[in-house]
Amino acid sequence: MDTSFRKVVVVDDDPVTLRVVSKFLESGGYQIHAFSNAPEALAFMEVNCPDFLVTDWHMKSMTGIELCERLRKLRLPHYVYTVLLTSSIDVNGMVTSLEAGADDYLKKPVIREELLAILRAGGRIRLMEQELKFLASHDALTGVANRRSLFDTLDKEWSRANRQRTDLSCVMIDVDFFKSINDLHGHLLGDVVLKSIAQRLVEVCRDYDNVYRYGGEEFCIVLPETSEDGAMTCAERCRASIAASPIVAGDRSIPVTASFGVAVRTDSMATPGQLISAADHALLVAKSSGRNRVISNQMTFAEN
Ligand code: GH3
Ligand code: MG
Ligand code: MG
Repeated sequence: MDTSFRKVVVVDDDPVTLRVVSKFLESGGYQIHAFSNAPEALAFMEVNCPDFLVTDWHMKSMTGIELCERLRKLRLPHYVYTVLLTSSIDVNGMVTSLEAGADDYLKKPVIREELLAILRAGGRIRLMEQELKFLASHDALTGVANRRSLFDTLDKEWSRANRQRTDLSCVMIDVDFFKSINDLHGHLLGDVVLKSIAQRLVEVCRDYDNVYRYGGEEFCIVLPETSEDGAMTCAERCRASIAASPIVAGDRSIPVTASFGVAVRTDSMATPGQLISAADHALLVAKSSGRNRVISNQMTFAEN
């Protein structure tokens, strides 16, 4: 997890203040993107989301207040902690700036220590946001991404595959006879088995972000730019890795296998859900034909 929030956009139409504030921030280890007007800063932030915005209030082309309001309306990947600079501020001004979306304000002339302390406080908010986002997108037991991020990723990859005419494959995985493992060894050891299975999948896939816990004892792997053959190879490696050696949980050694269903996106599929359904269908065939195997959606067509 990246805990260093360093990117700051500074906006001021007074070149002296812009230089001084930028120097203060640079001396605190921040990376500065300096702008003499708000419209340019806004256009920059739309594409390069900073961690912080430090902006003057009174500027000609767009005020700092309007900049804050416009910033808050953008769909950005994360929160931008925003500080307004002003030479004088009363209660009304304070309320206006906070209502506009500013998080804090600073009186000019800016004092270096005060500015850096405010940004450190802002960094705590950004860190909290990052931690909450991680918790919301990952499964608490296995540590892999959860179902919510699976569908977020699938939506994005689906659009990309459509746009760029590239392959997109999906592998659905279901642990075999997992209920018996729970019944035989208890749910706590069952949990250890699930964690180890997730770990083996991640190791085989190499990319931590591709493995998702779909729910219960079911996992899913999303493979962008991967043909069905490529997905079959990946699934087979995963299957072999799980079946290769028993999972050690407490004082037990628990043999475990899993079944795999593979599908690739086709033009006849209208939604990411249909790709999941196709992989699910193949998984059902893998289960009914003996478990501990990889079946692709194409293979199930060939059989029919
Ligand atoms: P099959 O080979 O047909 O998939 O059989 P199965 O026993 O794996 O399938 P079934 O759907 O009957 O059982 C799944 C079990 O997974 C039942 C449920 O209690 C267990 N399970 C789901 N989530 C968890 C979990 O987080 N921890 C543990 N220990 N067990 C879980
Ligand atoms: Mg299941
Ligand atoms: Mg199962």
